[in-house]
Amino acid sequence: MPNFHSQLKALRRGITNALRSPRFYTSQIGFGKVFKAFRGLRGYHPDMFSYRHAFHAGNHADVIKHLTLIATLQHLQQKEGGITIVDTHAGAGLYRLDGDYSETGGEAQDGIFKLLSQLDETAAQKDAKPIPEALQAYLDMIGSFNPNGQAKFYPGSPFILHAMLRKDARDKLRLFELHPTDSKALASNVAQLDAGRSIMIAREDGFESLKKMLPPPPSATGSKRAMVLMDPSYEIKSDYGKVAANIQDCLKRFATGTYLVWYPIIPRPEAHDLPKRLRTLSNQAQKPWINLTLSIGRNTDGTTAGLAASGMFVVNAPFTLKDKLREAMEVVGPALARGTGHSWAVEHS
Ligand code: SAM
Repeated sequence: MPNFHSQLKALRRGITNALRSPRFYTSQIGFGKVFKAFRGLRGYHPDMFSYRHAFHAGNHADVIKHLTLIATLQHLQQKEGGITIVDTHAGAGLYRLDGDYSETGGEAQDGIFKLLSQLDETAAQKDAKPIPEALQAYLDMIGSFNPNGQAKFYPGSPFILHAMLRKDARDKLRLFELHPTDSKALASNVAQLDAGRSIMIAREDGFESLKKMLPPPPSATGSKRAMVLMDPSYEIKSDYGKVAANIQDCLKRFATGTYLVWYPIIPRPEAHDLPKRLRTLSNQAQKPWINLTLSIGRNTDGTTAGLAASGMFVVNAPFTLKDKLREAMEVVGPALARGTGHSWAVEHS
């Protein structure tokens, strides 16, 4: 990897250029067609229709989600045995930061773009500290999708996870995406990876299909290992209950799996309860957990439009994770802080 500070500078230059580039987003089909495609699809609820991750790619929630995901998997991969990795709500896999969708919400401005520009400023200071390990790994990952130093692409969880698969250990990636357009985009994006049988994609309900993935098949070393990312859009109220019920079920089916849940922090009783329920479930199963939260605070004009806070809950969290996340958040938290009310925390069992 080249010196990261110079790479950051290049990426920052690229941000301006990227945002000037022609609007484009891959694999979109007309809404009329999408609507027809939804009819008769099991597990589909009309409210899902309003959520498209491309609007949100690279936002502050993606930053903490993907940073935690990478740090967790890196730890698990210190052991030899192959891992079955399940992404129950995969999205489209790869996003253009200069595309129509991302520009509409411009959410990457309060996420990856802001992080890069803040780091760039800090790096220019004389007493600049080295970038913490987990943050560096996240930045390296984003950088690897933007080799020209132009921040044009943002990898979603499927592409991040694919980039981390170990061939020799035969890690496997299982992706579920129910939205017809996103599952189509995901399939065509993944097809370009030439990943063979290491990746499986299904247009199925991730909550339901997770059940058949656990316990995972034994790896070449005979051990059974699994990591699951559960990242629903929570457009439907029932998603909160499904996440908790799934985690409970997962712990019965495969108690030693590592389970990561992203959740929004919004004024809604179900959202408020979810991390508490996850904590209770983990404690009852006597499994170590970590709960990372980030609130970027109000807009500078005092409004709170858009998502301002979210969390990542990790069940069976690796023991080194809390310190790694804390170190990273000491940089990420202040870098992404907006107006009043910003905070971050790493709680653990
Ligand atoms: N995990 C992705 C990432 O980090 O790049 C982002 C996923 S996005 C937050 C949630 C996705 O879940 C959306 O693309 C949505 O279409 C999909 N989805 C919603 N309900 C689903 C379900 N029951 N099963 C599978 N996918 C679902």
